Amino acid sequence: MLLRLGRWLRLMGQDVASPKGCSDEEILQKAKVEKRTLLTRDKRLATECLGSGVKCILIKSSRIDEQIEEMAKRGIPLRLDPKRCTICNGLLQEVELSHEIASIEPSEKKLWRCSECQKLYWKGSHWRKIKMKLDDIASRMDLDDLGLPG
Ligand SMILES: [Zn+2]
Repeated sequence: MLLRLGRWLRLMGQDVASPKGCSDEEILQKAKVEKRTLLTRDKRLATECLGSGVKCILIKSSRIDEQIEEMAKRGIPLRLDPKRCTICNGLLQEVELSHEIASIEPSEKKLWRCSECQKLYWKGSHWRKIKMKLDDIASRMDLDDLGLPG
């Protein structure tokens, strides 16, 4: 299960579907029709992808930091990019600050609302933590590239 990685990828602006209650066959079919890259930790499923011409990334690590690093090595930029709802993958739309919203975090001027589930997003303290984590992973990768002990 890579639901957590999926949520992180959405924070990074990626369009990530999380099929629930689907068989492997249904997931494969969905990936093929929607031209998606399938992320899995299941070697057998990855082999099936190869057989049916579905692009697939076999995630090796069970740790979220390392999973994000694996994705970064595949070319996913390590930056926060609010485009997708982390819960439902709906498109985010920038919204005006109103009194109703201002009570949530008065210091924030920029907000986004999910067009599907209406969840609100803003750059609060959680945002800074997420950014720090991405920066942390990026700096560790730079060390790896230089062959230095990280
Ligand atoms: Zn949503």
